[in-house]
Amino acid sequence: MFEKVLIANRGEIALRVLRACKEIGIATVAVHSTADSDAMHVRLADESVCIGPPQARESYLNIPGLLAACEITGADAVHPGYGFLSENARFAEILDAHDITFIGPTAEHIRIMGDKIAAKKTISALGVPVVPGSDGAVENDKEARRIAEEIGYPVLVKAAAGGGGRGMKVARSADELADAMATARAEASASFGDDALYMEKYLGKPRHIEIQVFGDGKGKAVHLGERDCSLQRRHQKVWEEAPSPGINEADRARIGGICADAMADLGYRGAGTVEFLYEDGEFYFIEMNTRLQVEHPVTEMITGIDLVHEQIRIASGAPLSVTQEDVSLFGHAIECRVNAENPRTFAPSPGRILYYHPPGGLGVRVDSGVYQGYAIPPFYDSLIGKLIVHGKNRNECLMRLRRALSEYVIDGIETTIPLFSELVNHADIVDGRYDIHWLESYLADGED
Ligand code: ADP
Repeated sequence: MFEKVLIANRGEIALRVLRACKEIGIATVAVHSTADSDAMHVRLADESVCIGPPQARESYLNIPGLLAACEITGADAVHPGYGFLSENARFAEILDAHDITFIGPTAEHIRIMGDKIAAKKTISALGVPVVPGSDGAVENDKEARRIAEEIGYPVLVKAAAGGGGRGMKVARSADELADAMATARAEASASFGDDALYMEKYLGKPRHIEIQVFGDGKGKAVHLGERDCSLQRRHQKVWEEAPSPGINEADRARIGGICADAMADLGYRGAGTVEFLYEDGEFYFIEMNTRLQVEHPVTEMITGIDLVHEQIRIASGAPLSVTQEDVSLFGHAIECRVNAENPRTFAPSPGRILYYHPPGGLGVRVDSGVYQGYAIPPFYDSLIGKLIVHGKNRNECLMRLRRALSEYVIDGIETTIPLFSELVNHADIVDGRYDIHWLESYLADGED
């Protein structure tokens, strides 16, 4: 087992990883930018190293700075959290070359899944159903038109290097296609420095269903059921739940089994999430994330498995702690992403938290790095915490969530808590009747 883990991240996820390390008895090293000297992950870690100025490019993404921090502190492993360098194959390779364990999959698997065209080809060859679309990159408008006619409109033009919903454009007819291609290409090039595009059939009313997988890197893999992340705004997840109110046990076993078998065949190591759109009883792969997800706690709540412990175990060479037969799901969990944002316009609202009172009680978990008096810096994403609620069934979970939201007080900044208080009482949400477009049309209706 590792003696000292350096956590190459900040905010709630740095704290989450730190907690797991403490429980197993591993010493922790926090890294931070000059804007984060007062952050909770810095206060709670055994050691901390300042790695640069506020801009992420010069601190949390600064590989030489992180390597130096490993060297100074003698860390023998790095946990990347999510975002930042968590899906950077080069970072994994560099750590490897320095005999420091990257807590995650191999650089090769990160690279394949980071290129959505390569990911789709690989996953499809492993027997996983994918969205109908182009076989690979779409080079020009003429080719795009031919493929669109084959698969039928509407189509979605997507960036091979995409992430966070950027570089994605819908074309509803041949007239719109050239424009969609040009806009997606410009956005992809500006956001990712890679303008390769591909095309998919645009699904009209799917749910976003993702399967949590774990592989030991030696040919064994399990799945831990699904999460439903259909409630999204601008392709960003807002509310996640497990299990999905929209799929049944047979669907779960089928798609979960397909994913676990695919990961076993691939020799995948560590935690991963295979993302699907689900429509009319069919699953369509869209992408795989080779890291821990923001929404991993809902899976932890219903399986009782600590996903970060599991990541650390596997990275240290230990086998999976469970077989597929050992995995059983209990009850229902919902996560609300509490952002420092206006609950209607979603404009960021950084600043000082004047009063802070998180909810508690049975089945309530708050993963957050903020505290009363803490000033949220303007340099990073606006997630300030996750409220995760567990109940023995979905109804109890919703009841508990209503209560927890009413207790949660964060003064001094705007947060998305009021939005969740509306959602948790909406008939469609209560009935589990929603798809990936539901939230945007709900928000648009409110503007009338
Ligand atoms: P990113 O990596 O940018 O997040 P994804 O491929 O994961 O991109 O897709 C993000 C979201 O975009 C999905 O959750 C879904 O809401 C929407 N989306 C992606 N592909 C399709 C599709 N073929 N049809 C309809 N919606 C899609």
